[in-house]
Amino acid sequence: GSMRVKDLAEALSISPTELIMELLNMKILANVNQMLDPDIIKEIAKKYGYKVEEIKPRVSLKKKTLSPEEEAKLKPRPPVVVVMGHVDHGKTTLLDAIRQTKIAEKEYGGITQHIGASMVEHNGRKIVFLDTPGHEAFTALRARGAQVTDIAVLVVAADDGVMPQTVEAINHAKAADVPIIVAINKIDKPEANPERVKQQLSEYGLIPEEWGGDTIMVPISAKKKQGIDQLLEMILLLSDILELKADPDKPAKGTIIETKMDKGRGPVATVIIQEGTLRLRDVFVAGDVMGRVRTMFDDKGRPLKEAFPSWPVEVSGFDELPQAGDILEVVEDEETAKRILEERKQKKETSNIEVWGLGEKVLPIIVKADTQGSLEAILQTIDKMHTEDITIKVIHSGVGGITESDVMLASASKGMIIGFNVRPDSKAQQAISKEKVIAKTYRIIYEIIEDLQNYIKGLKEPQI
Ligand code: GDP
Repeated sequence: GSMRVKDLAEALSISPTELIMELLNMKILANVNQMLDPDIIKEIAKKYGYKVEEIKPRVSLKKKTLSPEEEAKLKPRPPVVVVMGHVDHGKTTLLDAIRQTKIAEKEYGGITQHIGASMVEHNGRKIVFLDTPGHEAFTALRARGAQVTDIAVLVVAADDGVMPQTVEAINHAKAADVPIIVAINKIDKPEANPERVKQQLSEYGLIPEEWGGDTIMVPISAKKKQGIDQLLEMILLLSDILELKADPDKPAKGTIIETKMDKGRGPVATVIIQEGTLRLRDVFVAGDVMGRVRTMFDDKGRPLKEAFPSWPVEVSGFDELPQAGDILEVVEDEETAKRILEERKQKKETSNIEVWGLGEKVLPIIVKADTQGSLEAILQTIDKMHTEDITIKVIHSGVGGITESDVMLASASKGMIIGFNVRPDSKAQQAISKEKVIAKTYRIIYEIIEDLQNYIKGLKEPQI
């Protein structure tokens, strides 16, 4: 794709004026908002010692087609579930209730280890829960390329109803293509009004089955431990519908969800296995580091010799601390691991600027505005915008400043952020630089439209 003068200047860490002068030397007269052709970007980047690399659009794992032989090797695997919802609606209480009723704590002296995820059993079948509730952690992992979650449980308190973070959670799950089960919580409270919750959720496209929709909604009381079995039942039902499967006989591959330095064991990381079986002494690479599995423990502190698809395990044997979001992959031997790391290192050094490429013809955007009125005006105007070939998809919108969670969502979805009379807070600002997300703020609505139109024009031009 192409790029605006000011964005290229920023990517090159030079002032827009310097870049405009440089362009003048090339006999190109440009202003800061001008879109530059790929060829020119390449030439300028080269002058400053950068190489241009195009971001590949996200490929959906679900659509990966397998050969009949590969298909035949697939075995059912447990679902990996994240709990989301507004603050104080009962996410933590629900996770505790599930663990307390479902983990036989007597077995290992009642010590449950915090490794970042827990595996529970219901009717002899396993379900894995991520221990950190909320869409922030979920989307942060996704922004790093990791797709670990199969199902999102959306907790909505029946007395409070749909709140801003409920809407955020819905949009984060939708952007990730993760199906939602709703747990209508706190039904023990006299003020509880589950029907109102259903009504509110239907405005966001979550229609309960009894109203002819396809969203499973389960009334629960996390505090009184009511409805927990039904909820787990529904999670298993949905995972049957989703046909969650993996080949356990391949070399293992998994996502790192947590890391820490342990006094005795050195760098350790919790890995959720996604395919294959991880075994003691397997050699692996994970991001920038390599290692060999020395010990493995489950969430109950039990030592394991092997870990199967969807299992969360705490692994030691890393040369150095890897990062959450890194993919751990078992390789043949240490020589192979070293070669892969060397290749990765070299690739990193040569690619500094990333330019957009749009495979799917959808531009995901997030809109934040200072008032409900201006937000609606912007959404309506965007809706009416005529854009050939490319669809603008508002994946999240809301009243208020640009937050870190908005930035992570934009990063994970390869989208951009539009702010109207609002600014990013300092955490969001840091995330914007780190994730290289495009976030722009405006004071005049028509400038948003003009900018979007120019941007799309740029995206449609030939790719580098
Ligand atoms: P989180 O912020 O979503 O993790 O919410 P918490 O799990 O910390 O719960 C917030 C408050 O709601 C706590 O005081 C809980 O005791 C209370 N709570 C959670 N679930 C229920 C419930 O089912 N019924 C009632 N009455 N209170 C609940």
